[in-house]
Amino acid sequence: MLNIVIFGAPGSGKGTQSAFIEKKYNLVHLSTGDILRAEIAKGSEIGNKAKGLMDQGLFVPDEMIIAILAGAIDDNKAANGFIFDGFPRTTVQAEALDAMLKERGMSVDVMLNVDVPADELVKRLLERGKTSGRSDDNLETIQNRIKVYEEKTLPVLNYYKGQKKDNYIKGDGTMDEVFAAICAVIDAKA
Ligand code: AMP
Repeated sequence: MLNIVIFGAPGSGKGTQSAFIEKKYNLVHLSTGDILRAEIAKGSEIGNKAKGLMDQGLFVPDEMIIAILAGAIDDNKAANGFIFDGFPRTTVQAEALDAMLKERGMSVDVMLNVDVPADELVKRLLERGKTSGRSDDNLETIQNRIKVYEEKTLPVLNYYKGQKKDNYIKGDGTMDEVFAAICAVIDAKA
């Protein structure tokens, strides 16, 4: 069992790197943003509640996202482990993740802190917005998402520092360079 939290600002490459990690280490990639977008596409009640918040770059409520994530873990009982992408985004969520993993006899093994400078994040997200079809990849929402990240999500780094599980990853290299740095960390722990 190998459980990885991939942490970083919007546009830091978490989704791209998670796909590489998922394949190489045979893990299940759980992206809360992807789950919410799928709910919106289905027109479900959860999706309807989430859409307005996501379009403004605001978080959906902790209790809602925590319940969604617990359900996703339980839907994948045969998994070798998980990559948590976009979760936890608040300290409350980090505590909830520890509790829900503990209840299931698991824990977070590795936290990857993918660091990319803010000006590069905006550049990448604007570029992605040309083709992503995501209603939150526009300049105003991007700036709000980065602000919310700095205010609410960066403190989560201290939570993992306190547990000595954080690993700094320089995220502004090429995709291959970033992946090599990530594999070096995972291989050293596994
Ligand atoms: P992402 O695809 O990770 O960039 O997430 C897109 C949007 O989904 C975020 O801006 C939030 O509105 C919402 N979201 C995703 N994950 C979470 C989470 N863990 N907590 C609260 N909101 C979330």
